[in-house]
Amino acid sequence: MKKTVRVRFAPSPTGPLHIGGVRTALYNYLFAKKNKGQFILRIEDTDQKRLVEGAEEYIISSLAWAGITFDEGVHVGGKYSPYKQSERSEIYKKYIHQLLNAGHAYYAFDTPEELDQVRNEFQLKKETFQYDAKTRMFLRNSLSLSKEEVKELIEKNTPYVVRVRIPEDEEIVVNDLIRGEVRVSSSLLDDKVLFKSDGLPTYHLANVVDDYLMEITHVIRGEEWLPSAPLHVLLYKFLDCAEKMPAFAHLPLILKPEGNGKLSKRDGDKHGFPVFPKEWKDPVTKEISSGYKESGYFPEAFVNMLALLGWNSGTEQEIFKMEELIELFSIERINKSGAKFDPEKSKWFNQQYLRKKDIKELTILLMDLFKKKNIVVTFEKAEKICSLYRERVNFISEIEEQSRFLFTRPIHLDKNIIQKKCKSNTTELLEKLINHIFGFDNWQSGFLHESINAWLVSNELSAGQVMLPLRLALVGELKGPEVFDILELLGKDESLARIKNGIEFIRKSIQ
Ligand code: GLU
Repeated sequence: MKKTVRVRFAPSPTGPLHIGGVRTALYNYLFAKKNKGQFILRIEDTDQKRLVEGAEEYIISSLAWAGITFDEGVHVGGKYSPYKQSERSEIYKKYIHQLLNAGHAYYAFDTPEELDQVRNEFQLKKETFQYDAKTRMFLRNSLSLSKEEVKELIEKNTPYVVRVRIPEDEEIVVNDLIRGEVRVSSSLLDDKVLFKSDGLPTYHLANVVDDYLMEITHVIRGEEWLPSAPLHVLLYKFLDCAEKMPAFAHLPLILKPEGNGKLSKRDGDKHGFPVFPKEWKDPVTKEISSGYKESGYFPEAFVNMLALLGWNSGTEQEIFKMEELIELFSIERINKSGAKFDPEKSKWFNQQYLRKKDIKELTILLMDLFKKKNIVVTFEKAEKICSLYRERVNFISEIEEQSRFLFTRPIHLDKNIIQKKCKSNTTELLEKLINHIFGFDNWQSGFLHESINAWLVSNELSAGQVMLPLRLALVGELKGPEVFDILELLGKDESLARIKNGIEFIRKSIQ
């Protein structure tokens, strides 16, 4: 029988989740759903010194916003609980003893100062120090000291760590579903600390023990963890559970827009695009980093953009709903090389979703923005504004910004434009226009369009002579949608009042 797929996202709550982390969670989610498996959220908080207040909640709420849900985890429970490593310390103790008893791990009593000194000595010889088979017998540990000495040190409560005993010159094979077979000599690895003096394991031990106990079948994680994979393979072997070892898939990096190096928060700050799913306020510095959510991205667009940063469907299609992604996703189609992040393309994705969104849904969102700006508007009018602008913008906030002139009469008209576009007869032409439209009962843009155009023709006037000054009077500048739509949205009274004001302003400016 085929094993049920079980994958996990295992962040350390050391800060806000970068979009690279969201992508890792997304790929795990897609893989789990595609294979009718389970997806688990495990919080890896064994490095208590690096914990950041609010980071765990941030991770949970960001993934929820993106529509990435879990079957088990720290926030939803499950039969493998607890899902937070700091609550599992007793479990790890059993495994560290198993490794110690089998001779795969040992106690090390070297103080940080002693290790610094050794490092310096190596540096003087222009060599790099590594705690391993070559050096461990010259250091203070349970392999180099006698049994009695070790016993005494432990009885005296001397601080110690437990290190893994890496064998010398053994070939370790990591089978990676994306990169193929990766072979490494164990001599390149150091005797990593597995257990710290604070009684908690390090990432490596806790990660492997939990993947094993939680019956994880596939470890899908960022490329930065590939160097740790040989140690993890060894630990499975040392813990006698090599046959339970999950398959590994190390995802390519997300690269800076210029394509060199990993995308970092600083790139976002520099170029003004978010690198975090939601806004993040640093609890210490109080510095605020922008988020996709607050920048007006739809979660669907954000997820679609992330899905294609490192994976492709093999077709030209670029717009995928979550269900389609689940259906099409496969680890084989994940690229080996890094994915260059393109902030403009992210906006494009949002634009595509904005265009397709149900107009009523869009209107509700726009109404919210108007409300925040204390703008009172009917649903009908907001809907009209949405349909006029949706093809011209990437974000709903732009609709709010660009339609602001509809709610505040312009005080000044752009003088440069007046100089360039208005003639001595402009005010007279606008007055004539008022006379023509003054009696209209119908103020629909279609009707206005027809009758004003007919009036222009019969008076042998060009659009430039009348329509540009008209737009200027209505908007204050030469921006905005079709003039007839603007007239309709403003309504007859407001339109006439703005044209009259405009006439006065133009008259004064060209005197
Ligand atoms: N705690 C690690 C992280 O913060 C997990 C890496 C892994 O998935 O094994 O990314």
